[in-house]
Formats: sequence, C-alpha cells, structure tokens
Amino acid sequence: MADIILESRYPVVLTGAGMSTESGIPDFRSPETGLWEKMDPEDFTIESFTSDPARIYELSYGFFQDILDAKPNTGHKVLGELQARGIIKMIITQNIDSLHQKGGAYRVLEVHGSLSRGVCLECEKKINMGQVLKAVNEGQNPPLCTECNSLIKPDIVLFGEQLPEAFEIARKEVLKSDCLIIIGSSLEVAPVCFLPRLSKNILIINKGRTSVDDSSKVLVRKKAGEALSMLWEEISSREFVRTGLGGVNF
Ligand code: NAD
Ligand code: ZN
Repeated sequence: MADIILESRYPVVLTGAGMSTESGIPDFRSPETGLWEKMDPEDFTIESFTSDPARIYELSYGFFQDILDAKPNTGHKVLGELQARGIIKMIITQNIDSLHQKGGAYRVLEVHGSLSRGVCLECEKKINMGQVLKAVNEGQNPPLCTECNSLIKPDIVLFGEQLPEAFEIARKEVLKSDCLIIIGSSLEVAPVCFLPRLSKNILIINKGRTSVDDSSKVLVRKKAGEALSMLWEEISSREFVRTGLGGVNF
C-alpha cells in the first residue's frame, strides 16, 4: 500500500464511520455495537424531522454531544500528517464528526455535512452546534434561529435529502485521482457507494467486508488506527531516505 501511494500522482482517501469507532463513536452497521442496533433509521429522515423537529434532538442529544466531545484517533492524525506533507491530496468523508480536521487535515470534503453546526431552514444561517445543544438543554426544543426564529436542523444530510455541493467536487476528485484509499466504510450508502467505480486503483482498510473488496489492489483487514500507524511507519521511513525529513511517531 505504501509503495502504491508513493508512486501515485494524486492519491485520494474516502472514509466512513469505521474511521471514528476508535474515537468512541459507534458506526451504523457493525454487529452488536452499530447504531442501527438501537436506533431506527426512520427517525433520521427529512420527513420525520419536518413533521416532528424536536424528536431528533430528544433521541440523539447524548450522541450529538459525544460527537462534539470526541477526539481524533491515531488514524485521523496519520492522515492529517500525510496531507500536510502533500502525500494525500484530498480526504472525502461520509462522517459528520469533523475529526479529520481536528486531526490536522485541511482539505476535507464532508459529503454528508457536519454536526459541528446547525443550519436555519429559512435564512440558512449556520449556528455552532454547541450553542444549539445548549438551547435544547435549556428547554428550547426544537431550537430556533437567532436571526429569524425558524427551525434549526443539524447541518447533516438526513435520509431523503440532497447531498451538498461537496459531493460533486468529491466525484471530480475521484475522477482526477489515480489511487483511492477507502477506510472504514461498508460502502452501502448511496450515492457514495458509486464513487469507487470511478477509480481503477482501489486500496481498502476495513475491519469487515465491503461491497468492493473484490476490486481492490490491496486489502488490509485491520482496525484503521493500527493499519494507518503501520502505513505511516512504511511511508515515513521511505520519505526519510528520500527527503531526509525527520519522522513523527504515532
Ligand atoms: P457503516 O456503519 O455502514 O460501516 C462501517 C464499516 O467500518 C464497517 O464495514 C465496519 O466493519 C468498519 N469498521 C468499524 N470499525 C472499524 C475500525 N476501527 N477500523 C476499520 N474498519 C472499521 O458506515 P459507513 O459506510 O460510513 O456508512 C454509514 C453512514 O454513517 C455514513 O453516511 C455516515 O454519515 C454515518 N455515520 C457517521 C458517523 C461519524 O460521523 N463518525 C458515525 C455513524 C454513522
Ligand atoms: Zn434563520
């Protein structure tokens, strides 16, 4: 994997919920621990939000707070460092936790939005999620916009909603890339699951099976944090020989 990445002109990463399970945020589909074991996807549709907007905050207050408090894990930090060194060009993520940016990445496409903020459904003002949850905690549920008093929706893509412009940019990035590294995603959610088909060179790091295992050049069946620290060791030792840059240890 290290060789392929270093030989590539424009490596791009695509991550999913498995990237953040080592930061304590459960994914959707892992047996026993996945969120769908205890939550109902029907409560996360745009129809359900518009018919009863307080419900999502009632059901998910603790989960939202946990996401805001979560810390990047080794895997996020390795990707941040690889991007800072220009080795990884872009990170496309389905995650809503903004942990890539907290781990040092600066070119990230959040194709399912981010829970770091809420958005007013009327004037589109963005409001820090910490502030939104504080209002909910103080009894304002559903939370309302400080400008126009309309509903605040978490700025994430609910089932049935259009994806943001970031998805179209992500599609172009995959077309431009010559290597797609997929980490911690079952690739069962559309339309993101169609992105790997645009790439001829797929590398996978994932604990369980994915829908594109058979087309991958390299498949690493390990936890993301562990696999990425190993990848870092490989890449940094080669880079040290090539550029003389000092190593960072994870
Ligand atoms: P998913 O739950 O469908 O799949 C997660 C995959 O990651 C599984 O294949 C699992 O085997 C693997 N995995 C779990 N822990 C791992 C680890 N430590 N290392 C490597 N692999 C690991 O998740 P998905 O494909 O991202 O799609 C589901 C949707 O979930 C996305 O739309 C995303 O928006 C949403 N989601 C996001 C978060 C988050 O922001 N952290 C959390 C839960 C769900
Ligand atoms: Zn407003």
